[in-house]
Amino acid sequence: MRALEAISIRGRLTLLYVGLLSLVLILYAAGTSAFLFRNLREQLDNRLNADVETIEGLFAWDGPDRVRLMTENLDEDARDLQPHYLEVWSGTGAVLYRSPQLRSEDLGPAPNGVPARLGARSVQLAGGTRVRFVGRRHVIDGTPIRIRLGLSEEPLWREFWEMVSVLAVGLPVALLLIGGAGYAVARRALRPLDVMASRAEKITADKLGERLPIANPNDELGHLGRVFNETLARLERSFEQLRRFTADASHELRTPLTAIRSVGEVSLQKNGDADYYRDIVGSMLEEANRLTKLVDSLLTMSRADAGRIPLQPTEFSVLDLAKEAAGVIEVLAEEKNQTMTIDGDPKVFVRGDRLILRQALINLLDNAVKYSPEGGRIEVRAGASDGAAFVDVQDSGPGIPVEHRSHVFERFYRVDKARARGEGGAGLGLSISQWAVEANGGRIELQCNNGPGCTFRMRIPKAAPLTQKHRERTS
Ligand code: ADP
Repeated sequence: MRALEAISIRGRLTLLYVGLLSLVLILYAAGTSAFLFRNLREQLDNRLNADVETIEGLFAWDGPDRVRLMTENLDEDARDLQPHYLEVWSGTGAVLYRSPQLRSEDLGPAPNGVPARLGARSVQLAGGTRVRFVGRRHVIDGTPIRIRLGLSEEPLWREFWEMVSVLAVGLPVALLLIGGAGYAVARRALRPLDVMASRAEKITADKLGERLPIANPNDELGHLGRVFNETLARLERSFEQLRRFTADASHELRTPLTAIRSVGEVSLQKNGDADYYRDIVGSMLEEANRLTKLVDSLLTMSRADAGRIPLQPTEFSVLDLAKEAAGVIEVLAEEKNQTMTIDGDPKVFVRGDRLILRQALINLLDNAVKYSPEGGRIEVRAGASDGAAFVDVQDSGPGIPVEHRSHVFERFYRVDKARARGEGGAGLGLSISQWAVEANGGRIELQCNNGPGCTFRMRIPKAAPLTQKHRERTS
């Protein structure tokens, strides 16, 4: 088996093919030879039976213990009876006649008890000749005799061995030719694999745009090539995303770092008082804060991508979740004199990871505060519709133009890049919220009218009905 593994697929295919074919051909040749041999022997037996019928009437007594073959009565056609091995025995087991071909040999022991007709048998004479003979009981002038008539089997064996030697020479030649042809066919069929392999060798991380050539999309190799190309396309997309993510992340990290450095450099060139330096340190801390938030978001994203954030689902009221998240953001809303209202159905329970869902909602509320003007209004509603729980966050900001709506959940996407950065956003909040809600089996929808303000809706799976009923009864 190990030795076979060292051989190429085409070599193995050819070996298997030739092996199976040899087996079939050998069985076929053995069957044909056996059939031929049987046929030849049957012909010989038929001839012996016909000849013994002709010959048995040609014997006459030639004395008390001898019989004579009346060859003078033989016609032209029966002359070829001469090469027969002929033996005549008396009823008591004495030899009455023996043809010249037999010389002193005999065709076996005295035929005592031999039935009236003896089926054909084969014997080997002392000289080595193989003889096929038949036996008959006959009566001359009231005295029973036994006749044995034989013919040499040599012509039969000669014909048989001729056939066997033709097969013995022909079979290996045929197998050699078929093996060669099989190898050529296997080589041709597998050639696209070589082409694919050499092309695949050239594909590197920088050349993920390359694709394998597909000779025939309908065969197995075509299928393999297609699957490989699809994998390459997926890899290429992932690489591209990774590259974009790294570039965007570095860019976002550089901005606050540059700000910290330039504020520091400028302050060093001036001789300010304590208040001046307190302001400088304050704005540096603000940038450092922004940097920390950004790094936290990046870490969350990469841990989420790697599937390393384990979910700890529990059941809780969706209105409680809304109140908790609003409590965190309230301070920011107050700073902008915004009013934040929260209402909803306290009996709607959801199942999910409370901390992660809370963070998702905080991101939505943070945006609502960020993008709503001073003195604006933010409404939070919790409830259930279409079999799922929901939390709506409606703001009174500028809304999101139609062409940006499908992109706002993408990483680092900002509608108004300059403004958003000023407000501290790196374009990661919504993509983190989307991941968090989807990881908990829900989804986020954006509902915008053409007027100002927009509503983000988090839909979360409800808790199991039994729990739901139990809670309703106990609340
Ligand atoms: P950011 O941290 O920049 O706010 P997000 O992923 O949370 O990033 O949002 C992506 C972009 O979507 C924002 O930069 C902003 O342009 C837009 N956006 C998000 N929420 C709102 C909203 N409530 N009103 C208007 N625009 C919004």
